[in-house]
Amino acid sequence: MADKVDEAQAFLQYQTDIQISNIRKTVKTTTPSLFECENCGAEIPLKRRIAVPGASLCVECQRIAEIKNKHVSTDF
Ligand SMILES: [Zn+2]
Repeated sequence: MADKVDEAQAFLQYQTDIQISNIRKTVKTTTPSLFECENCGAEIPLKRRIAVPGASLCVECQRIAEIKNKHVSTDF
């Protein structure tokens, strides 16, 4: 009897683990903004992550990247 309970609990735990990992996957795909800057590792503020979906750089690195992009485009 005790074995059956353990089995049921293990199964429930297994199902819960799958559900949690599915939720995590969904969260990851629906919130593409990073928590940390890809370039310098600084924390990207929540406001910025909401304002700029998919943001992967902090404000400072984004500014530098934009300046660099401008340089690249004017070189051509
Ligand atoms: Zn940065």
